[in-house]
Amino acid sequence: TNDRGQRTKHEFNKFEEIALAERTFLAIKPDGVQRGLVGEIIRRFEDKGFTLVGLKFLKVSRELAEQHYDVHRERPFFAGLVDFITSGPVVALVWEGEGVIASARKIIGATNPLSAEPGTIRGDFGVNIGRNLIHGSDAIETAQQEVSLWFKEEELVSWQPTITPWLHE
Ligand code: ADP
Repeated sequence: TNDRGQRTKHEFNKFEEIALAERTFLAIKPDGVQRGLVGEIIRRFEDKGFTLVGLKFLKVSRELAEQHYDVHRERPFFAGLVDFITSGPVVALVWEGEGVIASARKIIGATNPLSAEPGTIRGDFGVNIGRNLIHGSDAIETAQQEVSLWFKEEELVSWQPTITPWLHE
C-alpha cells in the first residue's frame, strides 16, 4: 500500500491471480426458476463476493442432461432426474473466486433439503431431494468438466470487479 493506505498496482496484480484461481458451475434447476428464486439465489453468491463469469437461460436437451448426470446413469432416480432437468428452463452459471467450489457447496447445502442447514439455499427453500433447486459442482475436476460441457470458452467473461481489494487482502 502507499502512504494513503491505497493499494499499489503490484498488489492489484497479486489478487488478480487469487481471484482467478478457481471456477465452479451452478445450475438453477426448473423448480428454482418456476418458484421465482433466480434473483434470490444469484444474490447469495454475489453477496458472498464471488464473481459471475458465465450466465445463460436455456431449456436443457436430453443429451446435455444425460451427459451432465452421467455418473448417476445406473441409479434408480436417473430417468426421473433427466426428465426433471429437461422439464423447464434452467439458469446455468459459472462463478469464480478463491475456494468457490467448496464454498458454493456450503451455500447450497446438503443434497436432501430436509437435512440441509437453515441458511443454505436448499435448507431455506426446499423439502424434497428431487426438487432441491440448484446444482453445484463438487470438485475441481467435475467443475472443469461441467463448465466446458455447458459453456463455450467465448461465452465466459473474464473481468475484474472494482470491489476486489475490499474482498481480498
Ligand atoms: P448433489 O446435487 O448434492 O451433488 P448428487 O450428485 O448425489 O447430489 O445427486 C445429483 C442429484 O440427483 C441431486 O441434486 C438430486 O436432485 C438427485 N438425487 C440424488 N439422490 C436422489 C434420490 N435418492 N432420489 C431422487 N433424486 C435424487
